[in-house]
Amino acid sequence: MGPRYQAVKGTRDVFPPESERFAQAETIAREVFSSHGYGEVRTPCLEPTELFARSVGETTDIVHKEMYTFADRKGRSLTLRPENTAGVVRAVVEAGLATGPMPLRLWYEGPQFRYERPQAGRYREFRQIGVELFGVASASGEAEVLRMLFAFLHALGFRSLSVSLNSVGTSQSRAAFGEALRGHLEPKASAFSEDDRRKIEQNPLRLFDSKDPAVRAALEGSPRTLDFLDDASRRHHEEVRRLLGEAGIPFKDDPSLVRGLDYYTRTVFEVVSADLGAQDAVLGGGRYDNLVEALGGPSLPAIGFAIGEDRLLEAAPFSAAARAFVLVIPQDAEHLDDALRLAAEIRQSVPDASVEVDLLARGFKKGMARANALFEAAPVQRLDPGRMFAVLLGAQERQQGTVTAKKLDTAEQTMVRRNEIGHWLATRLAEARA
Ligand code: AMP
Repeated sequence: MGPRYQAVKGTRDVFPPESERFAQAETIAREVFSSHGYGEVRTPCLEPTELFARSVGETTDIVHKEMYTFADRKGRSLTLRPENTAGVVRAVVEAGLATGPMPLRLWYEGPQFRYERPQAGRYREFRQIGVELFGVASASGEAEVLRMLFAFLHALGFRSLSVSLNSVGTSQSRAAFGEALRGHLEPKASAFSEDDRRKIEQNPLRLFDSKDPAVRAALEGSPRTLDFLDDASRRHHEEVRRLLGEAGIPFKDDPSLVRGLDYYTRTVFEVVSADLGAQDAVLGGGRYDNLVEALGGPSLPAIGFAIGEDRLLEAAPFSAAARAFVLVIPQDAEHLDDALRLAAEIRQSVPDASVEVDLLARGFKKGMARANALFEAAPVQRLDPGRMFAVLLGAQERQQGTVTAKKLDTAEQTMVRRNEIGHWLATRLAEARA
């Protein structure tokens, strides 16, 4: 018989050590972003449905067919957020921050929900780490967020990074481009699916996201967004390119990059890395100068990016640092209280080690069997095999005021005075690290 309950299709459970990689990536994000003056914002998973229709766009796949939308008990239409920018903008406007001091620098981390077909690296509940910078209209906004993004990705061990860059201009230039694209695609649309033919009518830019070979072929030689830019957007784009060059950030123009959400204006980007192999884009971002106003706030330029955390961690070369480990083994149940006290003392002395007590108190033999099993599994458990100890506590030790310390890799055994064990372990663990 299988388990009675199973995780909902497209969702997953994350245990150690994978959960530790998530935590560590989030810690690195916090460090890098706060060192650039960004503070964390946490917004609800539940938002009014209308928010996404107005921001992400009525005709996008996300809003059209991927949202978890339901009526609550009072009949209000609510949606589990499919992305976080709309929620952050709503929150910023609602809190009055959009009229406050600028620039406003925020980052977030949390689950997002999309009813997509689950496959490798694609989930119905997934996590994103993202950044939003408000109040900077000039290209220095792009330069700041991309520099910071690179610092974050470098800290995760990614190398050979490059930005794919494009500009979609203003809503007017987008509209003119959309018109030209429609003219280009209509004569070729007979091979398209019904869904894609609908997109030609409603939102032809979305077809750049298509993987259908017929659509891809039809897009060859299509008009380019850059040919439709107004002068100000063109100058802005040139300035972005200049500043990225100055920052030593490699980039490549990608005229087919338009991104799957409607709110972008001017700059759109993705980042590719040699370490990512054939993976889909792990992150994307862009400028959204009209969104704050569209959601009821003042006219306020903004730029941001969102990283798919699940995909990022599948590809990220960094590994969480292996930890020191101490297992305190009581000889029997009678020595358990003492073992718990001893473990608390050891934790004080070596706060970065993982200190466990053999709570089942099955005796030294079984306790050592557990210690050795953990030693064998050290790489998977992210423990440092050279810094693993068992500390044995029994009648003989109690009588002598000592404990027995066993180094797991060498099986070397030492009697240590009980009140010195914390210091002794701290010294040994520091030596083994050096
Ligand atoms: P988007 O909000 O669509 O620009 O997506 C930003 C990033 O989120 C993507 O580059 C992916 O890494 C990640 N992402 C989007 N959808 C999913 C999904 N269904 N499962 C896992 N990651 C996703």
